[in-house]
Amino acid sequence: MSHDGHGAIPAPVERRPLLVGVDVGGTKITVLVTEAGGRVLARELAPVGAEPQHRAAERIAAVVRASLGRAGASPDDVQAVGVGVPGRVDPLAGSVSLAVNLGWSDLPLGPDLEALLGRPCVLENDVRAAAFGLHRRHVVGDIDDLAYLAIGTGVSAGVVLHGRLHRGTHGLAGEIGHVVVDSDGPECACGERGCLEALVSGPAIARLARSAIRDALVGDVATPLRDVADVTSVDVYRAAADGDRVALEVVDGVGRWLAWAVHVLVMTYDVERIVLGGGVSHAGATFLEPIVRELGRLREGSDLAREQLRPGVLELLPPDADAGAWGAVTIAGFGRPEAAAGGRRREVGHAWET
Ligand SMILES: [Zn+2]
Repeated sequence: MSHDGHGAIPAPVERRPLLVGVDVGGTKITVLVTEAGGRVLARELAPVGAEPQHRAAERIAAVVRASLGRAGASPDDVQAVGVGVPGRVDPLAGSVSLAVNLGWSDLPLGPDLEALLGRPCVLENDVRAAAFGLHRRHVVGDIDDLAYLAIGTGVSAGVVLHGRLHRGTHGLAGEIGHVVVDSDGPECACGERGCLEALVSGPAIARLARSAIRDALVGDVATPLRDVADVTSVDVYRAAADGDRVALEVVDGVGRWLAWAVHVLVMTYDVERIVLGGGVSHAGATFLEPIVRELGRLREGSDLAREQLRPGVLELLPPDADAGAWGAVTIAGFGRPEAAAGGRRREVGHAWET
């Protein structure tokens, strides 16, 4: 509600074309309500449990309505709602075909949300939307070839090439979290063994730490982590920052795998910048240092690596970057991709182009 200066006369009510971005995470939903120019009117964080998929749209719509209420707005003020989902998404149909970490499959989330909110709804994979948003908003400068590597409950990358979001044939380009890197490694949510995600995601780091704590107890090695109930990746990085040897060993191992992922992304896509984000990355320097160290080691090994892994190749987003929610706002601004005449995509594998 805005008032004009100190006067009692309320400003005339104007319909504002607002954009709403919804980032659906493994443990929380983040909603941003912005003006078309990017000014934030409301930001809402709501926890999600293991929401059964038939209730997902209602839950998201409720958080969106609450956020709009905080912004003094209603769904009528909204141009479009963008939703980023951690999983495989069909942007044309607005459906989620598979989101392993949420337990969703074949969910027509877009149409359901449109029915509940009465406004157009645009869906995309969360990390790909984030990568698109980082590019469109020039968050890391005027770079047209970049990859966004998100490390949180899941691990995935979004790739922008020549200034366009590269989705690939099935919208899965950058799904590096489910590349098997250690066939004897722990089981992954996708059913494989030893995927990158099973080694460096938040839950994976917690699991590695629990095992390291058990070994430390057997070997009579002191670690403050032994007194922490339900160890999380946040505890592990905090202990590592305090110099705990057991935690340092875990985060060093994670750093080596992530350096491998950075190397693979750079060599595969020849991007200029790898942007790191996601909940685990919020540990900041303690998270980044082992990756940088391992990249340095790789550089020593070859001229090619030295050329491709330049010191400026990595950029860590600050914890308050909200890349997922801003990505969702960005796709909302672009609207739903249209199927070309004849039911074919305008260009297979490249939605979200201008
Ligand atoms: Zn996997």
